[in-house]
Amino acid sequence: MKGKVALVTGAGSGIGRATAELFAVHGAFVVVSDKNLEAAQETLALIKKSGEKGLALEVDISRESQIKSLIKETINRVGQLNYACNNAGIEGEQAFTPECSIENWSRVIDINLRGTWLCMKYEIPEMLNHHDGAIVNISSIAGLLGFAGIPAYVSSKHGINGLTKTAALEYAEQGIRVNSVCPGAIQTPMIDRFVEDQSQERKDLMAAHPMGRFGRPEEVAEAVVWLCSDKASFITGQSLAVDGGYTIR
Ligand code: NAP
Repeated sequence: MKGKVALVTGAGSGIGRATAELFAVHGAFVVVSDKNLEAAQETLALIKKSGEKGLALEVDISRESQIKSLIKETINRVGQLNYACNNAGIEGEQAFTPECSIENWSRVIDINLRGTWLCMKYEIPEMLNHHDGAIVNISSIAGLLGFAGIPAYVSSKHGINGLTKTAALEYAEQGIRVNSVCPGAIQTPMIDRFVEDQSQERKDLMAAHPMGRFGRPEEVAEAVVWLCSDKASFITGQSLAVDGGYTIR
């Protein structure tokens, strides 16, 4: 990936941070973006510590103007965009469908689904300028299955998989591949917010993964970087579960 530019949203924590670091290990210049600038700068410091290059930018993916500026700044600073991992997302509140508040529904859909679409809206035209590019959207096993108590999250992640297939069809002939990765429960701050440490709920969720454990952010990052690489050159429109076997039961 030497000479290539990779963009990661939500790169200040968890899966996004691990993905940004792995792109850098593979030689890409990494645009580390997050709504929390300090967290993005910490990720960039980790990248620079290993002697690799990148830049950190503060971007809230629910704001169209900020995404527009992110892409503009990327092109101004490094001239191109080759890979994008649209990762930023939130879990929202837990409540059954009738109890899900309008505020929660709007917030989760705005960030997870609309935000991912907005990123692609501005990434794809830049990739078309050099007739190649690879995008990986971070969905979830909640994009493949139903989960009681998180209707907005499940809807947003199913939406991401549909959007991925649609964009993949639209740009397959022009050399742009679009895939999604559907992680199972991954050991990040998000899962710690979702299920309390030592709780029975956490143990049950872990046991629902045939491998009997949560995944590591680095294991998701490997799938993302591979899907972006030329090694996955004939793969587009797919939603790859990285879930320790959760969805095969
Ligand atoms: P995380 O540790 O909470 O990291 C998410 C990062 O995104 C945080 O730095 C967060 O900033 C940032 N972010 C939140 N809202 C944003 C916005 N509007 N614009 C830009 N950045 C924003 O979560 P994670 O577990 O790494 O999750 C990353 C992605 O994987 C999400 O899309 C999530 O749905 C998906 N996923 C996670 C799991 C899992 O078990 N962990 C499973 C399946 C899918 P703040 O910390 O300041 O909010």
